[in-house]
Amino acid sequence: TVVQRTTVQHEVPRYIGSDKDRVRVVVRVRPMSEREYDESRKPQKVLHCVNENSIIFDGGQHSRRFTFDSVFNEASSQDEVFQYCGIKRLVDMAIEGYITTCFAYGQTGSGKTHTMIGAQGASIFRMDEQYRVEHLGIVPRSINYLFQRLRDKTLQSSSPYYIRVSYCEIYNEQIRDLIRPANPDALQVRGSIEDGFYVENLYQTYIETIDELLTILEEGELNRAMASHKLNDTSSRSHALLSIQIEQDVQESDDPNEQMTRQGKLIFVDLAGSEKVKLSHSKGKQLVETNNINKSLLTLGTCISALSDPSKRSGHIPYRESKLTRLLAESLGGHGITLMIACISPSRLCENESMNTLRYANRAKNIENEPVVKTDSKENVINRLKLEVRKLKDENNQL
Ligand code: ADP
Ligand code: MG
Repeated sequence: TVVQRTTVQHEVPRYIGSDKDRVRVVVRVRPMSEREYDESRKPQKVLHCVNENSIIFDGGQHSRRFTFDSVFNEASSQDEVFQYCGIKRLVDMAIEGYITTCFAYGQTGSGKTHTMIGAQGASIFRMDEQYRVEHLGIVPRSINYLFQRLRDKTLQSSSPYYIRVSYCEIYNEQIRDLIRPANPDALQVRGSIEDGFYVENLYQTYIETIDELLTILEEGELNRAMASHKLNDTSSRSHALLSIQIEQDVQESDDPNEQMTRQGKLIFVDLAGSEKVKLSHSKGKQLVETNNINKSLLTLGTCISALSDPSKRSGHIPYRESKLTRLLAESLGGHGITLMIACISPSRLCENESMNTLRYANRAKNIENEPVVKTDSKENVINRLKLEVRKLKDENNQL
C-alpha cells in the first residue's frame, strides 16, 4: 500500500508576492497498535487512504470521503512525511522572514510526538545513528534542513543569520519554560493582535550549531516528560511550543541607526490530545485542569471554525480567550504561513475521535492567511545584544 507521490509540492510556491495563503492541512494515519489488533479481534479499520490526497472514513452506517493537501498512510516513512508534508516550504519562508507554524493535532496516542520528534519521543536522540536516520521526526529533520539552507544562503548573502530559540509548554493555562524549567517567573503572555503576542521572560538563547539546537530539543522533551511523570501524564494535556527565530540584519539605509532586522520564525506545536475528557469523572483540581485544557483547545476550535467560515471570518475571532490562541494568532488568519498535521489511528476503537479530527482538519483547510514579512528596528539588535550578555552571564555562573 505504498502511495506513489508525484509532486514535490513545496517547490511550487503558490502565493509568494500575492496576498492569500491557505492553511495547508495534511493527515497522517498511523499503523494499528497491537492492542488495537487484539481488542478488535479481527483488525477492523475505519479509515482507508485511497490516494495521496484522499481518505475514506467508513463507519458502517455511513461513509465519507475527505480530501487534503496530502494524506500519509500506515506505510509512510518519517522521511516521506518530511519530504512531502510541506514543511520544507515553511523553513524556506521562515528564512525569508515569514512567521511559519507547523502544528500536530489529534487524540492522545495518535502519533503527534512520533511525527514531530520521532519514534520513542525524547529517547530517539540516544539511539544509534542508523535508527535515528530512519526514525527522527519532522522537527529534527527541519532543523537539519534549516542549517543546510542557511549554509547555502550565507554564501550568497552579505549579512549573517542569527538563530534564537525558546521552548515552552502550556499546561493548565500556565506557561512552563522547557529550556529553563526552574524559571520561577509566572510567565505571562503580553502583546496585542496588531503587534503580535509573546511570552514575557521566557528564556531565549542564541544558538550557533545544529547540535546546540538538538540538545535544546532533547532536554526540552525530557523536561516535558519529567513534569508529566510527576503530575500524572500531563504531556497528553499540555501544548508544547518550540520557536526558532531566524534573524538577519537588512541594511536599507546607510545610516546605522536605521538598520532593520528581518525576523522570520519557525514554530512547532505539539498540541494536547484532542479527545473529549469525561467531565463527570473529574473532581476538584482535576476539574479545573480539564476545564483549562479545554479552554485552550476549545478556543482553538472556535477560532478555526470562525476563520473557516467566510461569513464570520472578518468578525471577532476570540484569540484572546486562551494562551494558546494568543500565541498562535499570527498563524491562524494572521500574517503567517501554517501547516497542520492531523494524526489519526485507523482503528474502529477510535472511530469517534478520528471522525472529530477529520472534521476539524477539514475546517482548517478553509483558513486563509495573508503572509507578510515584517522588519524590525534597531531596537531588536540591541535586545539581541542584551540577550547575548545574559547568556554569557549564565555561562559564567555555571562555571
Ligand atoms: P501522541 O503524541 O499523539 O500521544 P505518540 O506519538 O506518542 O502519540 O504515539 C503513540 C504510540 O504509537 C507510540 O508508541 C508511537 O511510537 C506509535 N506510533 C505513532 N505513530 C506511528 C507511526 N507512524 N508508525 C509507527 N508507530 C507509530
Ligand atoms: Mg505526545
